[in-house]
Amino acid sequence: MASAINILNASTLEDERLEGISQAVGQVFGLRTSVTPAQLNLDRAFDASRGQYNSTALLAQLLQASGGMDEKRIAVVSVDLFIPVLTFVFGEAQLNGIAAVVSFHRLANPFYGMAPDDSSTWKRLEKEIVHELGHTFGLYHCHQFECVMRSSTYVEEIDLKLGSLCTDCQRKLAGIR
Ligand SMILES: [Zn+2]
Ligand SMILES: [Zn+2]
Repeated sequence: MASAINILNASTLEDERLEGISQAVGQVFGLRTSVTPAQLNLDRAFDASRGQYNSTALLAQLLQASGGMDEKRIAVVSVDLFIPVLTFVFGEAQLNGIAAVVSFHRLANPFYGMAPDDSSTWKRLEKEIVHELGHTFGLYHCHQFECVMRSSTYVEEIDLKLGSLCTDCQRKLAGIR
C-alpha cells in the first residue's frame, strides 16, 4: 500500500508549475503528493536512430533511485518518449509497481502547429500523470468515456476525458489499496 506520491521533476518546467498539478493528483488518490527535482540520466535513454528517449529505460533508472517502496514515483520529462513498438508514448508506468514517467513534449499545442494554450497543456499533463499513476496502483485501461484511465493516442482524446477516475475505477482503487 502506498503512503505517498512523489512527482519527480526532470523537465524544463518550474517546480511551482507542478505543485498545482500535484494537489489535484493528491486529491484523486487521497495521498500526500510532493514535487522534488530529479536527476535522471536522459542520455542513457536516448536512441540516436529514432531521436527519442526510451521510456522503459527511464523507468529502470527510477527504480534504481533511492526511496521507499511505499512511495509511488512519477518522473515528468520534456523529451519525446517511445517504446519500441510505438511511434511515441505520452508516458509509461509499471502496472502495479512504483514507477512511472510522463512527457509533456507532445502535450502542448505548438507541437501540432496550433496556438499555445498553457491551461490546456497543464490540464493534459495533470490527466496523464493521474493516468500513469493509476497504472502503478494496478488500474487497467477503462472504457468509460470520461474516465482518466481511458487510453489516449491523441491530445484531442486527452481533452475529452476528465482528470478523475470513474466510479468503477474508484472502486477498484479502493479494493487494491
Ligand atoms: Zn495507459
Ligand atoms: Zn474508469
